[in-house]
Amino acid sequence: MKIIMLGAPGAGKGTQAKQIAAKYEIPHISTGDIFRANIKNGTELGKKAKEYMDQGMLVPDELTCDLVMDRIAQDDCERGFVLDGFPRTLPQAEALDKMLAEENKKIDMVVNLETPRDELIERTINRRNCSNKNCNAIYNLVLHPPKVENICDKCGSPLYQRDDAKLEVAQNRLEVYDRETAPLVKYYEGTGVLYTTILSQRANRMREEVTKDVVEQLKN
Ligand code: AMP
Repeated sequence: MKIIMLGAPGAGKGTQAKQIAAKYEIPHISTGDIFRANIKNGTELGKKAKEYMDQGMLVPDELTCDLVMDRIAQDDCERGFVLDGFPRTLPQAEALDKMLAEENKKIDMVVNLETPRDELIERTINRRNCSNKNCNAIYNLVLHPPKVENICDKCGSPLYQRDDAKLEVAQNRLEVYDRETAPLVKYYEGTGVLYTTILSQRANRMREEVTKDVVEQLKN
């Protein structure tokens, strides 16, 4: 099963991607997580990526595409994968299609998570992540708070606020999304594998319902 999660920053792609990947026992590949791990480890890639990420800008396509192509060529992706945060531009989507086509493979489903704009900002600034990179659990101070303040329920590590979860960067990331990533919805509409679903607190469509919907859709 080869799945792409599309959606604006704050839409909850990461949480959905984790659930789906666990259900189908396939790798969850988050380009953002890979970049953050590189930053933490002080690699050359991390140093380059940080300059863009700190401002809410996209890391250049060449760097990002190579990284993803190498990752999905690994053995554990043989049965499929969930891509979270990739592709984010048209050239990335085209590079992915080209690579898959060379191996007679294709994407099975693109899940497009739609969330009202005001909820996106609110969700982003209330997001807290587990600092343990083997856990990476995601919380929301309002919607899904940890049981003990600032401590991960799953592994007991401290939680932190990602730099790009701060208001100004979050707003910039939304502008970048509108300009660079939103056109991908049209691109995938043309391929017949797009599934759009709404994730909204106001509409009472929370993450559990959305995961259920996506799994149901994948069965079909
Ligand atoms: P995320 O964790 O998916 O929200 O990504 C965090 C940041 O990593 C983004 O704001 C970008 O700066 C960078 N990033 C992640 N994925 C990509 C991608 N596919 N293309 C370019 N930059 C990316």
